Amino acid sequence: MEIVEPKVFLIGETRIIEENLKSYLEHLGVPDWNTDASSDSEKIIEIMGRLCYRSFEPGLNPNVTKVRQGNKSYLQHIIEVGHGSVLEHAYLNFIFADVSRVLTHELVRHRAGVAISQESLRFVRLETLPMYIPLHIREHEKGMEIFAKTIEELEKLQKELAEIFELDKHPFETKKKITSGIRRIAPMGVATTIGWSCNLRTLRHVIEQRTDPSAEEEIRVLFAQVFNIVKDRYPNVFADYEVEIVDNIPWVKTKNKKV
Ligand SMILES: Cc1cc2nc3c(=O)[nH]c(=O)nc-3n(C[C@H](O)[C@H](O)[C@H](O)COP(=O)(O)OP(=O)(O)OC[C@H]3O[C@@H](n4cnc5c(N)ncnc54)[C@H](O)[C@@H]3O)c2cc1C
Repeated sequence: MEIVEPKVFLIGETRIIEENLKSYLEHLGVPDWNTDASSDSEKIIEIMGRLCYRSFEPGLNPNVTKVRQGNKSYLQHIIEVGHGSVLEHAYLNFIFADVSRVLTHELVRHRAGVAISQESLRFVRLETLPMYIPLHIREHEKGMEIFAKTIEELEKLQKELAEIFELDKHPFETKKKITSGIRRIAPMGVATTIGWSCNLRTLRHVIEQRTDPSAEEEIRVLFAQVFNIVKDRYPNVFADYEVEIVDNIPWVKTKNKKV
């Protein structure tokens, strides 16, 4: 039996096309405007926010006599007043590997602001059944023994059925049908892969919900890892978060919930 841990790969993020941004700023009459954001994602949020009131510099809109300076203070204000919609302009692309179907089924309940591509177990033949084992099971000798025995038996059955149905001899269409049939006796704990893209507004909400101690252990472990990556990469979007360790897993929380 192969025991696995969830793995996070941030493979993409929003990028600014600098020459076109420059053209827009010239068009607006503030060609020298710039900011101190450390990523394009945080910069784009600030730009989309400032364009609402033309608050790039005082007087550009005669109704605006002073403006907040700097990306950190601008984003902090957006988050405190709950104007979360501007966070939707920045989009991230993750791959979560070695996550169970228990986890992915919970993850896909988050509908707003996401895109999802899940590894197909109709197409991809299961030969082994790698699995995350929750702590309470892992620490229980008898419980762990039953887990290991069951998984090994199920792995054996996957291989046996592939042989009985002579899976390798069939054309791809038939292989797909048989593979799809055989997967039905795989456990929901089997580790698989999901591509998950989201905007930064969604990500804040999902981190809050899924690192909460009442959430399931594996998804808490996953989103604690996600938080570790994004807090360093987008420090101003996540500056208001605090971390408390519960059961050895970070609980990431904020007073500005679901902006
Ligand atoms: C600890 C925990 C336990 C859970 N237990 C269960 C359970 O036992 N059974 C179960 O079925 N589910 C359960 N869930 C899933 C939960 O009910 C939600 O489906 C899931 O957390 C998605 O969150 P969300 O509703 O905020 O939706 P998201 O898609 O993340 O949407 C974000 C926000 O956008 C708004 N929004 C999104 N879609 C709509 C819409 N169609 N109409 C209006 N507003 C919308 C809402 O304000 C929503 O909060 C659990 C979740 C957690 C965290």
